[in-house]
Amino acid sequence: MIIKNARIFDSSFELVKKDILIEGGKITDISDCIDGDDIRDFSGCVVMPGFIDVHTHACRGFDMTDGSAASVNEMSVYLAENGVTSFCPASMTLPESQLKKAFENTAAVKGNENGAYIHGINMEGPFISAARKGAQSEEYIVSPDFDMFSRLNAVCDIKLVAVAPETQGADEFIKAAKEICAVSLAHTQADYDTAMRAFSLGANHVTHLFNAMPPLLSRAPGVVGAAFDSENVYCELICDLIHISPAVLRAAFKVLGEDRTVVISDSMAAAGLGDGEYSLGGQKVFVKGGRATLADGTVAGSTTNLFSEFGNLLSIGIPLKQAVKSCTINPAKSINVHNETGSIEKGKNADLLITYEDFSEIKAVFIKGKKFN
Ligand SMILES: [Zn+2]
Repeated sequence: MIIKNARIFDSSFELVKKDILIEGGKITDISDCIDGDDIRDFSGCVVMPGFIDVHTHACRGFDMTDGSAASVNEMSVYLAENGVTSFCPASMTLPESQLKKAFENTAAVKGNENGAYIHGINMEGPFISAARKGAQSEEYIVSPDFDMFSRLNAVCDIKLVAVAPETQGADEFIKAAKEICAVSLAHTQADYDTAMRAFSLGANHVTHLFNAMPPLLSRAPGVVGAAFDSENVYCELICDLIHISPAVLRAAFKVLGEDRTVVISDSMAAAGLGDGEYSLGGQKVFVKGGRATLADGTVAGSTTNLFSEFGNLLSIGIPLKQAVKSCTINPAKSINVHNETGSIEKGKNADLLITYEDFSEIKAVFIKGKKFN
């Protein structure tokens, strides 16, 4: 198959007019003019790498922890419809038995998805701090437990695990888990020094920076300040303009630079549906005007998706190149799948998101070279 006559983001994320040859699900050539069979003319369109959401719990009423493998597959379909070509379903703070079931369901769908494909799990909880639990259930929080992590990793690959670095046993956990997957600071009260120590031990990711952690203060920089100071740390950002204000997003994108901002949805079941009452990890969530909250007003996940967030970023003045990288190569690098996907390069999966020139609307999505829908 040949994708022809479009402008594409090349390996350095510059927009250029090139054709793309796809064979066996992979990108096999990128040149000024490729001719042959099965030409798809995308004149007037832009080709981006497919978006990668490393942190989504649920969408369209389906939750990865709801006990059904079909739900994980439905998530993959919703995501593909919205330009996401691969993802990490995110678990919640739940008992190990329920996590095991969710991991089994994810493993059963992995490789057989009808939409976006699964890299592995983002294990958010239960190794977090009760003081910053957000919408996670306090009763199931436990100290970082590498044996439990290993048992679950044997059920389904974990790509990212969250830990509050101030909790009992966190140091040992980080040292052991970093050999298996990326380790992320999350739902934490940690101060700057504690966060810096966690990074020095091998953590290299922060879960939804700014949310579920102390704020950046003049004499208490906290996890946010530590992340700003650590050039090898990836930072997730929920860009629905509800979790973080546009001014703070602009500042964060400037400070972090274009290589470590990672847009995530952190979406819950209401994503893709309307306002109403939903559940998230067993807790009741109320959605009004797209804003999801627990009964006590705590913000509880989002109802957004990466394509909508990408539009938000452009609308608030984030540079195009950084916005694209933050939805593609940066998330890929953060979970170490960038040799497989995340950019339009020879040898990578043909995961492509094609939009009109103004990025307003999705024209086509290709996942491993197959057109979706
Ligand atoms: Zn989350």
